[in-house]
Amino acid sequence: MNNERHLVVISGPSGCGKDTVVKHLCKEHPDIEVSVSATSRQPRAGEKEGVNYYFLTREGFEQKIAAGEILEYTEYCGNYYGTLKQEVDKRIQQNKTVVLVIEVEGAANLRRMYPECTTIFIRPPSYEELRERLMGRGTEDEVSIRRRLARAVEEMEYAAEYHYVVINSVIAECAEEIYNIIQQRLK
Ligand code: 5GP
Repeated sequence: MNNERHLVVISGPSGCGKDTVVKHLCKEHPDIEVSVSATSRQPRAGEKEGVNYYFLTREGFEQKIAAGEILEYTEYCGNYYGTLKQEVDKRIQQNKTVVLVIEVEGAANLRRMYPECTTIFIRPPSYEELRERLMGRGTEDEVSIRRRLARAVEEMEYAAEYHYVVINSVIAECAEEIYNIIQQRLK
């Protein structure tokens, strides 16, 4: 890769609003695109194939691993999630900045592969706010919410391993902060 800094890895606990922030970022700045991951989890209401994720069966996912089509992957709360090589390659070839919204293990693997990549951790304003957001969005059942909250506490410990930590209080402001970080890194 010519400039690994064009690869931007964003993590944050489930419910911190990272997908919304990244959507805002890409809408405002067309030179930045998000890589669509593959997952074996079931689509949530309103999620679209190829937009939110490529939804695969566990077997389908394992076939892609075996075929070498996956750059990094992990199991998160019982499902596979992974970055497809092609999603990253095609955007890098078009000189785009590529954002990967992935959890902390995937981020650590990416950092090992591309030490110069830009890593950003998004924190919620508080744990209470995170809990309210997760419960309020109504996409998860109680067991899943509990698992995700427990995982959130673990994930928060990894924030120090990222180049930057930002707090998502106001979506547009958080997106702009991330944009400024990316611009700074590309100078
Ligand atoms: P969700 O089920 O809420 O969409 O995603 C669960 C977690 O998996 C989130 O932290 C999300 O960022 C992460 N994730 C999504 N895609 C990938 C991926 O391709 N690789 C890794 N390592 N994590 C991912």
